[in-house]
Amino acid sequence: MKINELKKDTAIFSLEIFPPKKTSSIETIYATLDELSDVHPDFISVTFGAGGSVNNSTTVQIASDIKTKYGIESVAHLPCIYLTKSDAAKILEDLKANGIENILALRGDLNPDMPPVNEFEYASDLVKFINVYGGFNVIGACYPETHLEASSPAEDIKHLKYKVDCGCNELISQLFFDNNYFYSFLEKCDIAGINVPVEAGIMPVTNKRQIERMTKMCGASLPEKFKKILDRYEFNDDALRDAGIAYAIDQITDLIANGVDGIHLYTMNNPYVAKRIYEAVKNIIKA
Ligand code: FAD
Repeated sequence: MKINELKKDTAIFSLEIFPPKKTSSIETIYATLDELSDVHPDFISVTFGAGGSVNNSTTVQIASDIKTKYGIESVAHLPCIYLTKSDAAKILEDLKANGIENILALRGDLNPDMPPVNEFEYASDLVKFINVYGGFNVIGACYPETHLEASSPAEDIKHLKYKVDCGCNELISQLFFDNNYFYSFLEKCDIAGINVPVEAGIMPVTNKRQIERMTKMCGASLPEKFKKILDRYEFNDDALRDAGIAYAIDQITDLIANGVDGIHLYTMNNPYVAKRIYEAVKNIIKA
């Protein structure tokens, strides 16, 4: 089923996972999925490495298994910067053959050691390509604190409007730790005439180094309240994990109370954390 055809009175709740590394067997993901299926998400999205760091054929396989083995809708991520049009067409063929109907169309991060292929410059080029191919629901990424390479927030919103006009039916946001950035971003989208649903990307912190690396990569700012948690509990894994879960629950509660379209949880393949968050917010999301 195409996600944009989901008829819901309540917010969407979705999860994101990544495929096992090239050195691990695909089988390692199934224990994670067994547990994540208890969370009853509206869909699970599966990342796809732009620079060849993972075995990308597993993205298609895992997205297919999420549908057929677990009965949960799936979304395959597809970054285009290192693809030729012929590569992209082959992947679309493969996705179609595996019954996958939803694609998160991405540019992908630039790898300084790998020159881009230059057949797709921006995600909007891929959005157009997929829509010409036909048969998929296309989702795009967005950045509440502005994409790191954008020359200004206004330019980023202008490009986002263009991407949506090329045929994205929904947006999923980059992670953020201060909901005010998300609310102000939604206002900017509204003013720009971006009218598709926007899911809020939430990443529960469980490890200080991991969060510092992620925020450096994606430009999300760390509020004082959040930094205090990282500093106080950095050497106590259980306390940091519990504080990170509590922080994510607090963020989600506020987002739902403010009527957001959906919550997209970056699970980092950690079902324990996803389950604890789901248990705490399931009634809030359904209300
Ligand atoms: P775009 O929408 O193309 O935007 C990239 C930059 O170009 C922005 O600064 C934008 O303002 C600018 N721009 C866009 N159009 C134009 C134009 N016409 N002229 C000038 N400038 C323009 N990466 C992966 O490799 N694999 C994944 O699985 C993956 N999953 C992700 C999931 C989510 C929810 C998010 C938010 C990101 C994900 N990423 C993933 C990271 C993403 O690939 C990077 O953030 C990348 O740098 C930008 O991708 P995009 O699709 O947003 O690009």
